[in-house]
Amino acid sequence: MWHPNEYMEKLYAGITPAECFQAETQQDWRSWRERLRKRFVELLGGIPKGLPELEPVLLESVDCGAYLRQRIQLQTYAGLFMPVYLLLPKERKERTAAVIACHGHGYGSKDLVGLTATGEEKTGEVGYQKNFAVELVKKGFIVAAPELLGFGDRKLTEDADAANSCKRLSTFLLAIGQTMAGYRVVEMLRCLDYLLTRDDVDADRIGTMGISGGGLVSSFAAAIDDRFAAVVVSGYTNTFHASILSIDHCVDNYVPGLSLVADMPDLIGLIAPRPLLIEAGTRDPIFPEPAVREAVDKLRRIYRLLAAEDDLELDLFEGGHEISGQVAYDWLQRVLAAD
Ligand SMILES: [Zn+2]
Repeated sequence: MWHPNEYMEKLYAGITPAECFQAETQQDWRSWRERLRKRFVELLGGIPKGLPELEPVLLESVDCGAYLRQRIQLQTYAGLFMPVYLLLPKERKERTAAVIACHGHGYGSKDLVGLTATGEEKTGEVGYQKNFAVELVKKGFIVAAPELLGFGDRKLTEDADAANSCKRLSTFLLAIGQTMAGYRVVEMLRCLDYLLTRDDVDADRIGTMGISGGGLVSSFAAAIDDRFAAVVVSGYTNTFHASILSIDHCVDNYVPGLSLVADMPDLIGLIAPRPLLIEAGTRDPIFPEPAVREAVDKLRRIYRLLAAEDDLELDLFEGGHEISGQVAYDWLQRVLAAD
């Protein structure tokens, strides 16, 4: 009997993304990158001109021993505010390397800084994100962990107890020609703008690390903005076909028309030649391993063309949809020459 799966497969097989990486010279690469970046930003919903002042406000400050945990609020879009945890090592040089840590689905940024959903210190399981912002501050980085739209303190009232708190916001944005991915990327760049206003942050040594939906945000933001000097993408790298288009994912993963323009490794490939570490669990059920390898093969072609193969690293670890950190923390320290 006829089956819709066959139709979908056929439909997908007929698509050749217009900006699939094919460059054979560095000059080809440069024009490919320019074209794809421009198109990518348009599809994300664009970056509004004349964004308002960040107006940073300190919300709290907690002494955590070796570091301070502050929470600030930034104005990202006009009238839209984002809380950000800042982990500040007490012993830091005048100019310190920084990392923006992006959480995935769950209860938001608290999960990265060692807190439960209600704000108490975690005592039991660390969860799939393994407090990675805390691990990074212990390595000497200034860490910023933004609360992504639709999570934690940034949920719609109706979604307070929703199993997936960002679905309704995401569909709303799609209906008005915007995308959740685009909003999160712009807010991420605003967080970067903020770090650049700080005297204690070294502007040339700012990286980002994100997991799952946060891996999307970290990689997409760095793909369009060269101010990120190094990137760790955890639990996200794949092909669109093998993961996002074949497995049930939150609607915040979808950018209308994007698959007509590029595949995921093309987009992540825009980060090249800057240092990039791909972290992936061999048993991750929603970002399957064979397609991680396929994506990294493509990334390797891009890095090779730019004579930067040593700056692309893969940590394929025994594990599921989770942070590893086994390679990532030391790698970031090395490539960002942290204090
Ligand atoms: Zn979502």
